Amino acid sequence: MDSGHAASHTPGLVDPDLPAGTYRLEPDAVAPLVARIATAHAAGEHRALTPFTGAPLVTIPLSSPDDVAAAVTGARAAQPAWAGVPVRERARVLLRFAGDVLDGQADVLDLLQLEGGKARAHAFEEVAYASQVARHFAVAGPRYLAPRAVGGMIPLATAAQVHLWPVGVVGVIAPWNYPLSMVVSEALPALLAGDAVVVKPDPQTTLTALWVAQRLEACGLPPGLFQVVAGGATVGGALVDAVDHVVFTGSTATGRTVAAQAAGRLIGATLELGGKNGMYVAADANLDAAVHGAVRACFANAGQLCVSVERLVLHEAVADEFTDRFVAATRALRLGPQLDYTADVGSLVSADQLARVTDHVDDALARGARALAGAVHRLDVGPYFYAPTVLDQVPDDAVCAREETFGPVVSLRRVASDDEAVAVINDSPYGLNASVWSRDARRARAVAGRLRAGTVNVNDGYMAAFGSVAAPMGGFGASGLGRRHGRQIIEALTEPQTIATQRVPLDRLYALGGDTVAGALTASMRALRALRRP
Ligand code: NAD
Repeated sequence: MDSGHAASHTPGLVDPDLPAGTYRLEPDAVAPLVARIATAHAAGEHRALTPFTGAPLVTIPLSSPDDVAAAVTGARAAQPAWAGVPVRERARVLLRFAGDVLDGQADVLDLLQLEGGKARAHAFEEVAYASQVARHFAVAGPRYLAPRAVGGMIPLATAAQVHLWPVGVVGVIAPWNYPLSMVVSEALPALLAGDAVVVKPDPQTTLTALWVAQRLEACGLPPGLFQVVAGGATVGGALVDAVDHVVFTGSTATGRTVAAQAAGRLIGATLELGGKNGMYVAADANLDAAVHGAVRACFANAGQLCVSVERLVLHEAVADEFTDRFVAATRALRLGPQLDYTADVGSLVSADQLARVTDHVDDALARGARALAGAVHRLDVGPYFYAPTVLDQVPDDAVCAREETFGPVVSLRRVASDDEAVAVINDSPYGLNASVWSRDARRARAVAGRLRAGTVNVNDGYMAAFGSVAAPMGGFGASGLGRRHGRQIIEALTEPQTIATQRVPLDRLYALGGDTVAGALTASMRALRALRRP
């Protein structure tokens, strides 16, 4: 059935014949990707560097606001025919993509590493996530979209059904940190729902979004339904001005701007923003597991992960032992720019990100914090590498005590009880992700239920909740609005329509006389109340 779409992958995006530590993309493989950018009005170009070396990687032509408008017009023209394709056929494109991304992983792993500077293991998490999201919505999505019967106004006499219409064109504005995940996360459910999608990736990670466009078409998605515009804030603003729903993933500050603009147009906005996530190690935690979990949760993608842990809250009964083991494991992490699985942690993405991390650490140290590991720029490994850093005794007025660092920096805090841990973790305007470690899972879930965060992981740092793509994921408070994943994202990317059929015409009832009808309705409402019917 799928043989017509067994699309081949471009052979090797990366030139394999260069000396170790130098990288070059194959021009013949990159040109067809770059040619997909919606750009006719030449609004300049962006020279992306690879964070591994700081050397030029690719030059991206930028879209103008007119290009954005044209891309959305094209998407709008393609969308009705796509919405008319039976949902099971739309699902087949996603199911093919779920296999294709696994088959073509060598290419996209290289791209993810060279554009973002991440270690291959963290790039692979993106590949696995992309495949999982595609499979989930291919299999469960048609059920989410099926018309649903609900109780009508008068039982038996009124039948009500809820239908979900595609909103039209969904704009996806994505950050650089997880450029594959943050594009497919909402684009795939949107396509399944019958929407068209226009994506604006971060200028640093445009190629990854273009790779997704290429692969989706190879998997059978008709042209025009998934378009990529290139640029920064201006292009993002032009996209919000043109689409029917915007999905924004990025910083809380930009999220507020996008939300205000969407409000002015009365379009929906799904906002996935920053966090200052806490992990609690309870007195009865399995310390082996907690140490490994913490290393992963604090330093995955060099800490440039929205759900990563930046505050470790330790019960005093285990704090010393945990700290010794955690610091040793942190110091043992291998940093490196290899395009294989030998490095544990990659680079920060840019000079700006390095400056932000350095500022946060230097500020904390100047205010009296102690560095138990790291706190050094590893120029010997590459221009933006920064050693995984553990800070103790961080005072409350340090910037990194409250603001998101978005880097490989975690601070330790001791508490005397579960109650105190809950209070410490909840003391933040953010509420994205949290984690609780205990041998008693029931007790841990009880603590989890008191944490003000959109996802809470028990005996895991972030992956369990983020990877449970049937369940909603998103933030309380300053961490966002709306949710990705599961039924919730399908509902966000569609317009619900209620169709109610009156089987017994109400007008005829009224012919019996107002007081008769009022009496009969009063009696029936009393009966429904007694029967607890909704
Ligand atoms: P950012 O807000 O600077 O940029 C995000 C995207 O918005 C980029 O594509 C950028 O070009 C675009 N943009 C910038 N200004 C815009 C404007 N005025 N209008 C429209 N678009 C605009 O964020 P960043 O530094 O790229 O990403 C890091 C942030 O993203 C962190 O705060 C992180 O926590 C957050 N994040 C959140 C999640 C989540 O699921 N909650 C996931 C990943 C990243």
